[in-house]
Formats: sequence, C-alpha cells, structure tokens
Amino acid sequence: MNQPTHPPLKKKRSRRQRLKFSEVWAKLWRPGLGGLLAAVGVVFLLNPFWPYVQPYSDPLQVTSPGLGDKLPHWLAYEGGAAVLGFIFIAIALLWWAFLVRNAINNTSTLWADACPNCHSPQLKRVHRHLLDRLLNLLGFPVRRYLCEHCNWKGARIDRSRLLK
Ligand SMILES: [Zn+2]
Repeated sequence: MNQPTHPPLKKKRSRRQRLKFSEVWAKLWRPGLGGLLAAVGVVFLLNPFWPYVQPYSDPLQVTSPGLGDKLPHWLAYEGGAAVLGFIFIAIALLWWAFLVRNAINNTSTLWADACPNCHSPQLKRVHRHLLDRLLNLLGFPVRRYLCEHCNWKGARIDRSRLLK
C-alpha cells in the first residue's frame, strides 16, 4: 500500500516569528500552568473514574481489599476524586494569587522611589497604618511616606524589601 506523498513542508518560521513565540511563551506559561492545574481539578471534580472502577464485589468485606483496589475505589466511590479536585483548584488559586502579587510588587509606579504627585524623590518614612501592616503580611512590602516637597502622604512599595 502506497503512502500518500506528504505535501511539501511549510517554510521554516523566520527568526522574528520564533522570537515572538518565545516571548508569548515567556508571558503565558505561568498563568497557563495555573489553568492546567485548575483544569485537572475540574476533571477530578467531575469524577470520570467510576465507570472504569469495579465497586467492591464483596460488600461485607470478608476479604480485605488490597491497596491496589482501595485507592481506585476511594477515588471513584468514596469522594477521593472530589478531594483531589479541590486540592488542585486550591493550588491553582494560590499560584494565581502569587503571580498577581508579584506583578503588583513589580509595578515600578507603585515603588517608593518618587512621589506619585510631584515626582520628587524626597520621600520621608512615617508611621505605618494597620492596613499597611496587613498588606505587608500578604506579601506586599508597603511603607507609608510623606513627600517633603508637596506634602503628599501615602503608602508605597519599598522595593529594597522585595524578595529577589
Ligand atoms: Zn510630592
């Protein structure tokens, strides 16, 4: 039997296009990983396993089932799939929260380098508010500043405290 001849291969992507692809990949793999985790979580929540797993043929458990039977049975019939689904989705949400936090912390306009009102670099530390401390606990290294030039007062990110 003759194989059909392949159509000629498409021209290799130009260098510029390949560069673009790597840029897109660099931007998307992190949120995409969260999406993948969430998708796996949803599949587990929908529990597609039970048609493939035999329920115990011995409901009185006279013979105790081995781990090779227990694990699939737990997954398919005892809520194991839902437990794993919730765990996967929780990890995805934490991962996304981590990415959002990093994106906010890396926003240079939120840094304490200059006053957001008059762009003067003469910012003086003042006492933090409760909210600043709360943000600090959530991973935003926020300090409160007073602009010595225009008297603007507010919270900014102290980037010297960002995790490298
Ligand atoms: Zn100012």
